[in-house]
Amino acid sequence: MKVNANSFIPAAKIAINDADLQAAVSYGVGQAAEKRTRAMFAYGVEHGEALRQQAAAIKRHALQRLPELLEQAESALTANGARVLWAVDAEEANRHVLEIARRHDVQLVTKSKSMVTEEIGLNEALQEESFTVVETDLGEFIVQLDGGTPSHIVAPIVHKTKSNIRDTLMQQAGMPATDEVQEMTAYARRYLRQKFLQADMGISGGNFIIAETGTLCLVTNEGNARMVTSLPRVHVALVGIEKVIGTVEDYASLTQVLPRSATGQALTVYTHMINGPRTVGESDGPEHVYVILVDNGRSRIYATDYAEALACIRCGACLNACPVYRVTGGHAYGWVYPGPIGAVVTPLMTGLENASALPHASSLCGRCKEVCPVDIDLPRMLLDLRHDLQEAGHTEFVWDAGMKIWSTAVRSPRLFAAAGRGAVLAARVMGRPPLPGPLSGWTEHREFPTFAPKSFHQRWSERAKDRGKEP
Ligand code: SF4
Repeated sequence: MKVNANSFIPAAKIAINDADLQAAVSYGVGQAAEKRTRAMFAYGVEHGEALRQQAAAIKRHALQRLPELLEQAESALTANGARVLWAVDAEEANRHVLEIARRHDVQLVTKSKSMVTEEIGLNEALQEESFTVVETDLGEFIVQLDGGTPSHIVAPIVHKTKSNIRDTLMQQAGMPATDEVQEMTAYARRYLRQKFLQADMGISGGNFIIAETGTLCLVTNEGNARMVTSLPRVHVALVGIEKVIGTVEDYASLTQVLPRSATGQALTVYTHMINGPRTVGESDGPEHVYVILVDNGRSRIYATDYAEALACIRCGACLNACPVYRVTGGHAYGWVYPGPIGAVVTPLMTGLENASALPHASSLCGRCKEVCPVDIDLPRMLLDLRHDLQEAGHTEFVWDAGMKIWSTAVRSPRLFAAAGRGAVLAARVMGRPPLPGPLSGWTEHREFPTFAPKSFHQRWSERAKDRGKEP
């Protein structure tokens, strides 16, 4: 997928003025955030926190042992009859899939939801080689019909209203006119069922791979992943290397927090644990299973102070909690991963210079860390990325100059006091107009606050004097 992350500010302005998007995102993420709170703390805050800390420890432990776990997973998957392939980047991952498709005479490919395949642009690569690809997750299906991209890790069409979805289904998939949600989903189900039955190859992602048993784990709500991974002759799973965990017990703990954080469910409707292709005596399942372990920049991140970002289990809770995501939606972030986790991983994966706006797309309120089921310190990483941007010379002149002035002023009590007095005076003379020039961004959508007539320091000194003490 093309990286457009440096257009964050103009794209966010468009999103803020899009009434449909505002209504849809505010409703969708608002609901998801509330459900997550209820589900996580259904047995009390202490229990919810304990689950979170347990999951955080498991993912960190798995990351520490990542090279060893990857080798263990490869051996176990191979022993189960799956073929394991490694992809250093998007190009190699796509090349593997194309070779598999040609080898097995594939024409029609069905897909279940996978962020890694969005990341590597797999659909485009397959379509360029004349393979037909059909997304089967309902949200991804609508996105594909529209020719768009998902705007949320878990809810790809959270930016769309019911009527947007109805129009797409009517115009792009021939659905008869209806306003009933059940009729829309029934139509999509009938449409997709034919594709499930005709497909030669199914492509999925993977929420986890259990190293000790070589098990690919998928958690879904629509059942399409079951169709995609069991009906076609060939199943290809593309999984980021960071998704490997140690044991079945680890998986049991992580499934306590993933659905709760993502959709507010104690458990998703479907949990798939795939151990390999159909074996002798089994009546269903694919004849061939390939697992492609995708690096695509992850090893580079692993070797830095940002390795913690690889603990992400892609639940989307930080998006739902983020005050910036809530008004901009996901497309403004300009790549596959939006919200706070996107603001961290997009610059790391695509290059600081290609996503320099994103680490600033945060109020640093800290809510993303609070809701993260694996306790990733996203605010710390956003601040570190801002520092890296500064060091690498990717900050704007106005920002640099402003920060230098600010830094000089706050280090000198005299300058700081003088600046305060100057600001009060200027505010008295100018009233509360929009700020000029590069500062106008602040007042375009907010009122400039009124300065207190006296600063805290002045009041403190006066109070101390009144009481006869040294200030
Ligand atoms: S950073 Fe945490 S909250 Fe955000 S998607 Fe990843 S696991 Fe979920």
